[in-house]
Amino acid sequence: MTESIEVNRALFDEVMVPTYNPPAMIPVRGQGSRVWDQDDHEYVDFAGGIAVSALGHCHPALVKTLTEQGNKVWHLSNVVTNEPALRLAKKLVDSTFADKVFFANSGGEANEACLKLARRYAFDTFGEQKNKIIAFNQGFHGRTFFTVTVGGQSAYSDGFGPKPGAITHIPYNDIETFKATIDDDTCAVMIEPLQGEGGIVPPTPEFIKTVRELCTQHHALLIFDEVQTGMGRTGELYAYMGLGVTPDILSSAKSLGGGIPIAAMLTTNEIAQHFKPGTHGSTYGGNPLACAIAGTVVDLINTTEVLDGVKTRERWFREGLAKINDKYHVFDEIRGKGLLLGAALNSKYEGRAREFLAAGIETGVMVLVAGANVIRFAPSLIIPREDVEEGLARFEQAVAMIAAD
Ligand SMILES: *Cc1c(COP(=O)(O)O)cnc(C)c1O
Repeated sequence: MTESIEVNRALFDEVMVPTYNPPAMIPVRGQGSRVWDQDDHEYVDFAGGIAVSALGHCHPALVKTLTEQGNKVWHLSNVVTNEPALRLAKKLVDSTFADKVFFANSGGEANEACLKLARRYAFDTFGEQKNKIIAFNQGFHGRTFFTVTVGGQSAYSDGFGPKPGAITHIPYNDIETFKATIDDDTCAVMIEPLQGEGGIVPPTPEFIKTVRELCTQHHALLIFDEVQTGMGRTGELYAYMGLGVTPDILSSAKSLGGGIPIAAMLTTNEIAQHFKPGTHGSTYGGNPLACAIAGTVVDLINTTEVLDGVKTRERWFREGLAKINDKYHVFDEIRGKGLLLGAALNSKYEGRAREFLAAGIETGVMVLVAGANVIRFAPSLIIPREDVEEGLARFEQAVAMIAAD
């Protein structure tokens, strides 16, 4: 009987590989933007499962799709195709630059597909010398060995033996260094159109424009990692739409499934044809259960009402955080876009972002960090105003606790 197992934080240390260090409380249910733990303490959810639960917890339309598809068929494998995958692909193609879609299960896997496709395209089209990948310091692209090596924090990729090669890292938003680095042997540039894990760092318009122009000039593919920024997070369906710069390949995950693991790589016909039957694949990728749910997520998010609502909610957060800062003087700036916002701590609180997360758990609000100096907010895109206000009030209590020390 699973119910006879006593579950508490100590069991985590006993049975889990220690890759994480969660707090003592264990959430057991969620509704909208509220979550309850084993002791029935309630939390306002400003974390959204790290920018995943874009429609909150247990949205009725998602529960309906989950139950309906759950009673039809969950999994078939890619030996056959399925209706929900084709419908979802059609919706993604119709609403983006892309002509073709490849489904995976996580952001890292979608990015792995992006990188492999870029390398294959360059190999087929220009020859094997065109293999250089340019990526950015503090960038984050996942934890597979290829994607973590392309990511811009070598601490995450060191210590696992020989790394995938021909990957160069340069500073984000540094136009001159970028110009000096890209050349005809560059096969791809992988970039987040707003750095998430790296501290909520937006690109300057000139930088992102230059990256696009030089990629085109050197026949290098521009890969936008929209795993965190995609699916409405910035107030556009994808962040590229707000930048006026279109990538050649794009990855989407996190919010795409609204909480069910699914990811997608989007690209053009010309590039897609370099993957052939057998060149790449996935057992679960595009499975009917995940695709049915993501299909409903896309239907709900890809509306002016929800996307404009993200911009309105950004304002609520910015105003609320500014008020807190007027009182307690903890932030240097609030940055980011839509509902991917970062409160950067000032020098007095440098390196202490985790303390705010922990204090929030005590006062009943879940927030995230993005590095040691930034408190990150990535709530549901449809979080109600009263939840924003209540969550900010609780966050203010957390700030007050730390500022009083
Ligand atoms: C979260 C994230 C990933 C990794 O996604 P997983 O689903 O954890 O593999 C990749 N890129 C970006 C920008 C992310 O935010």
